Amino acid sequence: MFLYNRVNKKELREKVKAETFKRITLSFYRYVNIEHPVNLRDELYAYWQSLNVLGRIYVAKEGINAQLSVPEHNFKAFEEHLYQIPIFKEVPFKYAIEDDNKSFFALIMKVKKKIVADGLKDDAFDTTNTGQRLDALTFHKMVDEPETVVVDMRNNYESEVGRFYNAICPDVKNFRDELPKVLEVLEDKRDKNILLYCTGGIRCEKASAWLKHNGYENVYQLHGGIIQYVHQVKKHGLESKFIGKNFVFDERLSEKVTDDILSKCHCCGVVSERQINCSYEPCHTLHIQCEKCSEERKGCCGDKCLADYDKVMANTI
Ligand SMILES: [Zn+2]
Ligand SMILES: [Zn+2]
Repeated sequence: MFLYNRVNKKELREKVKAETFKRITLSFYRYVNIEHPVNLRDELYAYWQSLNVLGRIYVAKEGINAQLSVPEHNFKAFEEHLYQIPIFKEVPFKYAIEDDNKSFFALIMKVKKKIVADGLKDDAFDTTNTGQRLDALTFHKMVDEPETVVVDMRNNYESEVGRFYNAICPDVKNFRDELPKVLEVLEDKRDKNILLYCTGGIRCEKASAWLKHNGYENVYQLHGGIIQYVHQVKKHGLESKFIGKNFVFDERLSEKVTDDILSKCHCCGVVSERQINCSYEPCHTLHIQCEKCSEERKGCCGDKCLADYDKVMANTI
């Protein structure tokens, strides 16, 4: 059994691009007690590899967080196998909003301490006392009510490309920093209905319990996250109150929800939806950069990276 990918990234990419069958991009998570995460990882990896499943999966003693690309012809086998494992019975799948078959090029499964890095000490508060789950249509209705405050629980590079139109979007790079920041921004809003949302719902589970632990009473979370919300409003012919793009953690980077372009070039401030990684490899930071600035800065995110990038290029010639 091989628990790592034996071919390099470029080859993997080419292989998936050459495939002639359809793939289904989906995600699921569950907070559930997993006694032996390593054993479970090994078992799932072996079977999923035999089905040509790709994706990124985190397994921990506290549960599983999985983002996958499953060949359509193997989907039934995949689903049946997963659902016969008692702890994953009927775990809900969230399907991509926009799927181009090329979300993942490898199967990576890691055993982690936590399935979401939140920096919280779980024994310090009741993680099961979560906020009330709202289905997409109820959330849709409540978003504009005067006693509502909507909070985006994602990072700044996610909310800058798309968000609920009236959401508070804390300017943070990761979820760990998000939690203390949210307490700050909600300080004077204790009497409001607090509506939390994230991509698929996983971050709101801990965040809502943590807010309740900090004395907030009316805490709600969008069940199934942005993904489920967009599917539901489309299905019911409603106008989406989430505008722009849904950021995703795979090769696609984002899924278009509405035509609005919310993001701006980090260099010159012009409206731009070009998400690129900094050309200076050790940095690799994802940033928004317009075509013109990209040309001038060779795709680097700032002057320092450009200088370092130039040095590296000079040495390789
Ligand atoms: Zn620019
Ligand atoms: Zn950089």
